Amino acid sequence: MNMSVYSDQLLTIVVPCYNEQEVLPETVKRLGEVLKKLVDEGKIAAQSKLLFVDDGSKDETWGLIKKFEKDFEYVTGIKFSRNFGHQNALLAGMTIAVKYSQMIITIDADLQDDINAIYEMIDKYYEGNEVVYGVRNSRKTDTFFKRQTAMAFYNVMGRLGVSLVPNSADYRLLSQRAVESLLDFKERNLFLRGMVPLIGYQSAKVYYARKKRFAGKSKYPLKKMIKFAFDGITSFSTVPIRLITNLGLFIVVVGIILFIYSIIRKIEGNVEIGWTSLMASIWVIGGIQLICLSVIGEYIGKIFKEVKMRPRYTIEQDDYSKKFTEDN
Ligand code: UDP
Ligand code: MG
Repeated sequence: MNMSVYSDQLLTIVVPCYNEQEVLPETVKRLGEVLKKLVDEGKIAAQSKLLFVDDGSKDETWGLIKKFEKDFEYVTGIKFSRNFGHQNALLAGMTIAVKYSQMIITIDADLQDDINAIYEMIDKYYEGNEVVYGVRNSRKTDTFFKRQTAMAFYNVMGRLGVSLVPNSADYRLLSQRAVESLLDFKERNLFLRGMVPLIGYQSAKVYYARKKRFAGKSKYPLKKMIKFAFDGITSFSTVPIRLITNLGLFIVVVGIILFIYSIIRKIEGNVEIGWTSLMASIWVIGGIQLICLSVIGEYIGKIFKEVKMRPRYTIEQDDYSKKFTEDN
């Protein structure tokens, strides 16, 4: 179609935004520069876009996106009808962008992930990689606590048999085909960084240093982080259920031993001794049972969510597709 070999490859950079009015102007500026440079170098199509997904922000985020859409041809946005969460925002952005894009990059709005890695991602794409992970080689700017908890998380996930690319989050490039394959995963409980390795295809990694959020606050407080980690584990691994089985078997064995022991004590005539151990076992086993029930309950809850097949998000406004249909 085009004269240049590469310039018909349209790139869309998907940026999920939840109350990001403080960072948005700078994000638009910096990502815009990257886009422009890539177009000038003939690496991406001139119609390449930034796609901001407003995840039901309560501040001026959507107003800003609309303003930038007017100012810059390459800025577009879609707006959720309410907050559906980071993962759903990413998925919606990819679902919409995949129709028109040969490459899709997802990146957080706060630019904690080095945007200069984008050039390398594109190069890797042209080398034939359909999945290019952005991997942090330094988390110096994250707090000690965040670093430790993140490390523990990858560790636990690894042990549970979920293959993740350590220190890679939702900053990555996917080819059109890779996104289409990802969209074949119909689960409601999204954990994209666990799903992407499952689609296969040739992949590569690009390393960068993670920076501080340059404005605004983290939208992932500890509570959300724990929930996300727990969701990740229970969406991807049934090892916790197997652990319960083993625990149950172990307790049965202990129970048999205690039963034999108490009969021997009875024969010996020392019966009143039982009170302490009885109390202890009631509480210990009661506690263990509750934990087990809650773990099983978690899976049942997940099944409940999956079988309902509710929409993963609702789009109130889609300026991205509008821009493309108007253009052509
Ligand atoms: N985000 C979102 N919906 C949410 C929470 C967060 O779209 O419900 C976006 C947020 O705007 C940002 C990205 O997800 O672009 C990552 O969030 P944040 O930077 O707050 O997380 P952290 O880097 O602290 O883990
Ligand atoms: Mg961040």
